[in-house]
Amino acid sequence: MKVTESDITISAVAPKQYPAEGLPEIALAGRSNVGKSSFINRLINRKNLARTSQKPGKTQTLNFYKINQLFHFVDVPGYGYAKVSKSEREAWGRMIETYFTERENLKAAILIIDSRHKPSKDDVLMYNFLKHHEIPVIVIATKLDKLKKNEVPKQLKLITETLNIEMSDTIIPFSSETSQGKEEAWHLIESYLDL
Ligand code: GDP
Repeated sequence: MKVTESDITISAVAPKQYPAEGLPEIALAGRSNVGKSSFINRLINRKNLARTSQKPGKTQTLNFYKINQLFHFVDVPGYGYAKVSKSEREAWGRMIETYFTERENLKAAILIIDSRHKPSKDDVLMYNFLKHHEIPVIVIATKLDKLKKNEVPKQLKLITETLNIEMSDTIIPFSSETSQGKEEAWHLIESYLDL
């Protein structure tokens, strides 16, 4: 998809704030600092729309970005940051539970994983949560430029096995630095949008 328009529609904390216009949605999840904002910005060719703004301590919101008037990317605040308080973590949990279980506009989720590491316990929980709710998942193994070429197959296998990725889901090797995987990511996203 060639993105010509992208803008934030709303930062929402509750369902009554979700956009009402009925556009399909693709949600993006991943642990803090994994490269989620960089992924979004790379896909839509913007330097800074999805800023690295969702830092712990700030209000945790679901950010809806409207793309080409066609659909929304829904940026879910990152998880797994050690210094977050228990009450903040619980509020995060309630917010994403509500969104993922109730939102009919949601077509698929993108789960961003650091290709250099074995997926964390939180990554596994997130994947299982999405599958429990029968949401299609695109796994993005990002920061691929930081791997040596000969390490790539081993790391992709490790991620596939640790998450126990279902046959119907896809893992895409990706780099926000080099744009590797961008076309494949768009192709899959479009297939879930039924445009
Ligand atoms: P977020 O917290 O998940 O939104 O993470 P960011 O997108 O802010 O990225 C965290 C850090 O990782 C930043 O310093 C980025 O420049 C870096 N980063 C993100 N994606 C890549 C990538 O594909 N390759 C490399 N080399 N660095 C990346």
